[in-house]
Amino acid sequence: MRIPTTAFGAGGTVTVLNPATADPIADVPLADLAETDAAIEAAHRAFPAWRAVAPADRARLLRNFAAVVEEHLEELALLEVANAGHTIGNARWEAGNVRDVLNYYAAAPERHFGKQIPVPGGIDVTFHEALGVVGVIVPWNFPMPIAGWGFAPALAAGNTVVLKPAELTPLTAMRLAELALEAGLPEGVFTVIPGKGSVVGERFVTHPLVRKVCFTGSTAVGKGIMRGCADQVKRLTLELGGKSANIVFADADLEKAAASAPGGAFDNAGQDCCARSRILVEHTVYERFLELLQPAVERFKVTDPSRPDAEMGPLISARQRDSVAAYLKNADVAITGQTVDASSGFWLPPRVVLPRGTDDDVWRHELFGPVVAVLPFTDEADAIAKANDTEYGLSGSIFTRDLGRALRVARSVESGNLSVNSHSSVRYWTPFGGFKQSGLGRELGPDAPDSFSEVKNVFISTDI
Ligand code: NAP
Ligand code: MG
Repeated sequence: MRIPTTAFGAGGTVTVLNPATADPIADVPLADLAETDAAIEAAHRAFPAWRAVAPADRARLLRNFAAVVEEHLEELALLEVANAGHTIGNARWEAGNVRDVLNYYAAAPERHFGKQIPVPGGIDVTFHEALGVVGVIVPWNFPMPIAGWGFAPALAAGNTVVLKPAELTPLTAMRLAELALEAGLPEGVFTVIPGKGSVVGERFVTHPLVRKVCFTGSTAVGKGIMRGCADQVKRLTLELGGKSANIVFADADLEKAAASAPGGAFDNAGQDCCARSRILVEHTVYERFLELLQPAVERFKVTDPSRPDAEMGPLISARQRDSVAAYLKNADVAITGQTVDASSGFWLPPRVVLPRGTDDDVWRHELFGPVVAVLPFTDEADAIAKANDTEYGLSGSIFTRDLGRALRVARSVESGNLSVNSHSSVRYWTPFGGFKQSGLGRELGPDAPDSFSEVKNVFISTDI
């Protein structure tokens, strides 16, 4: 496996591990504060020329980038299997998502329309002006897609980008930066800066030349970033935690609901801000649903993530595994899934827990691991109340055959991304983001370039 290189290193190194085995993969050089400042200044210098690239040429460069990602799809996927423990199927999808998101936003430079607004005495037009340098801060759970959702629309809108990957998972982002240069993006337009959150990430917040921060990660760190951005009224997008509900009504296709519930909760070992980690089941079918859920959980294939049949691999780190395991000490575990007989690596089997009530930690906290909690509800109003009884509001699912109910409940759940009879959350064609403490702003969808630009209004008098 070829390890991508970087020009940084004054901030020491971090040893990245393969989470499936705990074996070291690489010592990655980290940037210090001075190197971070230099990279931000280089991105600032690259901005005027990048903004001035003709729309069709910027579009072509982004399509070239997508094509080069496509050529290296397998390499990127294998790098992610090794660095993040993602299943090979997921990792291929993730690299493909970077390609697709680049292609989707490659259409934006030629279509980022302003408006012509009727006014007396002249004409009035609006422009979408690029911001300048955008800082993207990426977590370890989906290193490639989350990077792409930030950098692709930001670049399309004419900004230059500095990107900080998570310390645990920097390799695919570093490789994407090499591929961007290979695709012909000019130096300084897209720079990946491996480093610590407290150094590189924090500097994106405090450096005046970074005009927007795009952060995905924990709610606690996100709140600190929001406070920091206030000093400069810095633009900010936050994608934070979740504790999403999967609401199963008695009239649903129960077999389908039970068969898909493990995927909705345990995909990426549950380390997914959209994980349906709370299942609410109508009380009349609660026992039946658990009967159907048991074989589905036991079938969920936990194995070496590089195997093509893997549905779940390890957790990202010993710390993450231990943090999830601590919640299980006092929990009532009803179903335990497959275990890997590994002497090392950060493994946990999937588990279904039955909370004593809605105050239980397993019901309230984002565990970020392969644990799903199941509770019964009495009626539609109770289901909505329980689903909304959380500080989070990222996603959620509704299983029912009643279309009217599906729409009523979808409109009532305080959450940014709902799916009916499915667990889909993130589609690059549609806006993605959270209500309440799950975030601020939206990513993806047709309007993403708007959030990487300012609206400028220009009035031209005809009265001369
Ligand atoms: P985190 O600390 O919020 O890290 C996310 C990113 O922010 C990483 O790149 C991190 O860098 C960086 N960062 C950390 N402190 C920063 C600061 N003061 N200023 C600027 N950037 C900073 O999340 P985590 O520690 O990886 O995970 C902790 C928990 O967060 C998880 O257990 C889970 O509950 C939640 N989480 C949610 C999501 C999501 O998609 N919503 C993703 C990941 C985690 P370093 O890598 O150097 O720390
Ligand atoms: Mg952290």
